[in-house]
Amino acid sequence: MIRFENVTKRYRGTKRPALSEVDFNVDAGEFVFLVGASGSGKSTCLRLILREDVPSAGRVAVLGRDLRSLANRKVPYFRRHIGSVFQDFRLLPSKTVAQNVAFSLQVIGSSRGFIQQAVPEALALVGLDGKAKRMPHELSGGEQQRVAIARAIVNRPKVLLADEPTGNLDPATSVGIMQLLTRINAGGTTVVMATHEAAFVDQMQRRVIELKGGEMVRDEVGGGYGDTSSIPRLTPEAVPGAAAAAALTAVQEIQRETITGVVPTPPAEQPATARPAAAQDAVEPSAQGAPWPPAVATPPEERATAAGPRTTPIVIPEVEVAELGMADRLGLSRDDDEEVGPTS
Ligand code: ADP
Repeated sequence: MIRFENVTKRYRGTKRPALSEVDFNVDAGEFVFLVGASGSGKSTCLRLILREDVPSAGRVAVLGRDLRSLANRKVPYFRRHIGSVFQDFRLLPSKTVAQNVAFSLQVIGSSRGFIQQAVPEALALVGLDGKAKRMPHELSGGEQQRVAIARAIVNRPKVLLADEPTGNLDPATSVGIMQLLTRINAGGTTVVMATHEAAFVDQMQRRVIELKGGEMVRDEVGGGYGDTSSIPRLTPEAVPGAAAAAALTAVQEIQRETITGVVPTPPAEQPATARPAAAQDAVEPSAQGAPWPPAVATPPEERATAAGPRTTPIVIPEVEVAELGMADRLGLSRDDDEEVGPTS
């Protein structure tokens, strides 16, 4: 379904290639984690799969299509078969939840009748029925990511690409998002997820493709995250001054949570704010088992079902997706024509 053949990608003006002779094959229905330190080439892989960029050497084939020979005018049609979700949700801020999800159907010319049926079904699948008329800023971070996932799957894609989808979310909310991605995959959608979340990768025991400096250093079925030494650690420093004392207290609190497994009650529900990239670079929360800074409050429903620290086992629900009556519409059922080219 996704084939990388000795793919090298060099960005203009850079000395080192972002990807060097990367070679792998993802079959239909797989759930694959792409792991590696920041800058190792994960996003570049996803961009090549989406045909947002092309390799400098080698070949990328997706859904039976050699993307090198895919004409630019056919790219939008090809992308209809691939859903994408990102760390920063990328919702349209001036549109309601339903309008955000409908948008991806409107741009491809779906009928009004289909949109009216498909959008509520997608929102129900991600657990957001009842929130169709809300604006994105009225939702928690986890809810915003659910909207983004609904938007990504409403068009029944064969492949779902997720680039750090839990990167802006607190631990309990992240578990809910991982459960949702697992359900979508259980319905037959191939999922490729780039992540730094070592705990999730370790718990889920899915296929792991690890990149290091653009080279593929591991392709392991049922693997764990592996080497976490590249993930920055948060170490308290005893520096004089009130601000430093406050920071130290906060760090000690995180360490206490990690040791005891106790997660403090989050502050009152508040709209989500994405963590600035610089903050994420400075401190990687997953390494310590708690968000820093705590960017979002956990929605009550997610607290009830998934409360716990980063090490909370991910409960993979026994969901019969077909029973939801929407599996086929959302591309969540297995079928035999996955190799049919997207433009055929
Ligand atoms: P990751 O997703 O693992 O953080 P990326 O794929 O974003 O890694 O980046 C891989 C390497 O390519 C990095 O060294 C990064 O600086 C470089 N890179 C990514 N995008 C561009 C670009 N548009 N132009 C130049 N260099 C880039």
